[in-house]
Amino acid sequence: MTILSNRINNLAESQTIKMAKLGRALSAQGISVINLSFGEPDFHTPQFIKDAAAEAMANNFTYYTPVSGYPDLRKAIAEKLKRENGLDYGFDQIVVSTGAKQALANALMVMLNPRDEVIIPTPYWVSYSEMVKLAEGESVFINATAENNFKITAAELEAAITPKTKMFMFSSPCNPTGSVYSKEELAALVSVFEKYPNIYIISDEIYEHINFIGGHESIAQFPSVKDRVILINGFSKAYAMTGWRIGYLAADKEIADAADKLQGQITSGTCSITQKAGVAALNGGLKEVHEMRDAFLKRRGIVYDLLSQIEGLKVNLPDGAFYFFPDVSAFFGKKTKDGEVLNNAEDISLYLLNTAHVSTVTGEAFGNEKCIRISYAASEEELREACKRIGEALTSLK
Ligand code: PMP
Ligand code: GLU
Repeated sequence: MTILSNRINNLAESQTIKMAKLGRALSAQGISVINLSFGEPDFHTPQFIKDAAAEAMANNFTYYTPVSGYPDLRKAIAEKLKRENGLDYGFDQIVVSTGAKQALANALMVMLNPRDEVIIPTPYWVSYSEMVKLAEGESVFINATAENNFKITAAELEAAITPKTKMFMFSSPCNPTGSVYSKEELAALVSVFEKYPNIYIISDEIYEHINFIGGHESIAQFPSVKDRVILINGFSKAYAMTGWRIGYLAADKEIADAADKLQGQITSGTCSITQKAGVAALNGGLKEVHEMRDAFLKRRGIVYDLLSQIEGLKVNLPDGAFYFFPDVSAFFGKKTKDGEVLNNAEDISLYLLNTAHVSTVTGEAFGNEKCIRISYAASEEELREACKRIGEALTSLK
């Protein structure tokens, strides 16, 4: 008998975090593991942001902050949303959290009653379905396929709606597929939401700046649904600030106030020093952000060429984020040199870790059983070596 709650016993461990842990354990044994499992830019945080944090500390910004964040940060976020996305939000509609992860959790916790349904297109980011579970909702999946560039259509969305549907939740650019919804594709989804005024939309835009096909399009730009959109964004990906733990939501004031109330009982405001760094990041221009995006674009090309040469691997060309999500099903049922049969994507991912010493994540964690996720947020040298190792390991299967 366990002493733990059903809530935690029913929760799956985050596979991204699990694979990162396994990779670190192998590295600790002196094995040279190339970590392509964790979705984290390998760049350092830009210097001007680190300088702002040092200055904040020197100026004693070391006390509790307002739960939703310092007013200057919330104002800077509102200005960013206007400047970069053309969206009007008052600073009181913004709640800053300990990462976009907490902003997502806040959004679900304040919106869902037990058994409310949340429609999630697959592949989706690992934590979505588990967060829905924590908030006692039910996930309803729509399977987007590689043939449709891993995007859903308006008809598929409408077919998934039931009287219990409370929310729809997606990321664009998408983790793990890199798919990016165009304005026209979003407009088609909006035409469905217009018919169902009780459905709220969580729009996770954390990869907005890692977009290789042009400007970012937010579903919040459509006035007919804007009040029902809970826009999620953060600093981890654009500014290489994963360890600083800062993200935010922007939403209708009733929802923002509810997130503030929830956060006030759980974590309060995120780190004061981080918040001051966040103000500097938003007001400091996009030069570094674009340099990092250009580096990702170059790496995408290198990895695409190398992965495409591996026979049996079906590779999509992502439009954004920094992941490939290749279909590895051609290798299911094959045997390793030691005679072990690889039955599914998790077996392949563990085989690549233990044999090729390259860590990836099984697609099952993202709601797709045929694929694995490969992050290309690593140096060009590491990426070339990793692709070589993956190719050798896969082609040696019989
Ligand atoms: N959404 C998506 C799609 C992600 O990939 C991540 C992982 N960084 C997050 C949200 C959470 O980001 P963070 O908590 O680091 O801001
Ligand atoms: N979001 C990143 C990923 O997908 C970081 C890990 C995590 O927060 O789960 O790998």
